[in-house]
Amino acid sequence: MQLKQDFFEQLPEFYSQVFPLGISNPHWLAWSQDAADLINIDAPSEALLQGLSANAAVDGASYYAQVYSGHQFGGYSPQLGDGRSIILGEALGPQGAWDVALKGGGPTPYSRHGDGRAVMRSAVREFLVSEALHHLHVPTTRALAVIGSDLPVWRETQETAAITVRLAKSHIRFGHFEYFCHSERGAPDKLTQLLNFTIKQHYPELSCDAAGYKAWFTRVVANTAKMIAHWQAKGFAHGVMNTDNMSILGDSFDFGPFAFLDTFKEDFICNHSDPEGRYAFGQQPGIGLWNLQRLAQALSPIIPSDDLVAALNQYQVVLVQEYLTLMRAKFGLVVGDSTEAQDNLDLELMGGFTRLMERNQLDYTNTWRRFGSVDPNANTSALRDDFIDVNGFDTWYQAYQQRLGKVVDVAQWQAERNQVNPKYILRNYLAQEAIVAVEEGNLTPLHELQQVLKNPFNEQAEFAHLAKRPPDWGQGLIMSCSS
Ligand code: AMP
Ligand code: MG
Ligand code: MG
Repeated sequence: MQLKQDFFEQLPEFYSQVFPLGISNPHWLAWSQDAADLINIDAPSEALLQGLSANAAVDGASYYAQVYSGHQFGGYSPQLGDGRSIILGEALGPQGAWDVALKGGGPTPYSRHGDGRAVMRSAVREFLVSEALHHLHVPTTRALAVIGSDLPVWRETQETAAITVRLAKSHIRFGHFEYFCHSERGAPDKLTQLLNFTIKQHYPELSCDAAGYKAWFTRVVANTAKMIAHWQAKGFAHGVMNTDNMSILGDSFDFGPFAFLDTFKEDFICNHSDPEGRYAFGQQPGIGLWNLQRLAQALSPIIPSDDLVAALNQYQVVLVQEYLTLMRAKFGLVVGDSTEAQDNLDLELMGGFTRLMERNQLDYTNTWRRFGSVDPNANTSALRDDFIDVNGFDTWYQAYQQRLGKVVDVAQWQAERNQVNPKYILRNYLAQEAIVAVEEGNLTPLHELQQVLKNPFNEQAEFAHLAKRPPDWGQGLIMSCSS
């Protein structure tokens, strides 16, 4: 692993240097070779295990925790920071550099009352979801590995510590800009310094002047909108969309009580600490805009408000277009040119289907997967039997067939549906089963789950049980933030 130190060297006032504390008896619980390839690591090694478990120094690492702030559940927290994540530097790879961070590497100046540790269950969940989202083509941070230990940590009960090795193209969050917009922290100079760094590192085709800033913010708005369109189309609830968990690149980031929907429910809440549903599944598009508005406010000392507003006005447009693209593919709908009238008709048709799904309490993923065995030219549909409200389904299906038109090559059409409607998602109950097995010393379920989620669109018949709806105990699991 070859590290460079651009953030560390160029932004000395934006972090605290802090050395991670090792975890005892470190061992690999999981390893992603796909992620390793991104930073030119050929295989896990003992030296790497010692380095990434913080029991030995990593060559070229600087070790620092970034400072930021953020809006949490709507209220402003003026000082946050990496409380349990320590960054080593930027590792070089074939597609560019990736920050390498040890999540759970021990306390930092921003840990407040926390111990800076991650428990095994949350480390495993972060690892699995990063890799699962990536293989569903959702923009996301990645995870190289989970390292287990026998170090006890206390939450509600005694658990053991683990470290997720996170790879992120950047750890810069909306909250970084919020922190540095205050004049007592040297705004506008600091803000400009951070913005210029962000542009040079991550948007190098843009210039560091007024035109470049406007274009940059427009890109941030678009990238965020596209990420959320993916979440909505794929049935993913992030759970904690605070502005300190929003990446400036529009990558899914900082996973806690997330969930993929099992039974489709628009107002599904996955976070135990969110009883009012601020971050419910169906709220995510609106919250994405609210968060971008907070970012715009933070940028207002250095970007004219007309430019910020013009970019924000594109949010809904981009989100809806991306959502339409993703959903049309799921339905197999083709458009010549997407006119506003056609878009509205399609949105109506799509909403009709998801409302039916919700009323009939159907599984989001499995219902979509059925499209791969639908003959769209036939009078009856493989989908029909899943619906209790058969009349409601028939009415909808007629409208759908009319919109679809005659499909010439049905086998081809079905194969295409299976390339966009996954068979496997990271269901909460599966993650939970894998975690319980790890606690019992059995890594097989975790590794099988990881393997299956690498190819979520493939049948993998031997793992068909991993495509099942949750058993009673695993339905609508609400996770807590305590991790
Ligand atoms: P998160 O839910 O991961 O976004 O965390 C919210 C904030 O709490 C972040 O600033 C974290 O760094 C911090 N935090 C969460 N868990 C811990 C912990 N065990 N020790 C220290 N800080 C933590
Ligand atoms: Mg966070
Ligand atoms: Mg965090």
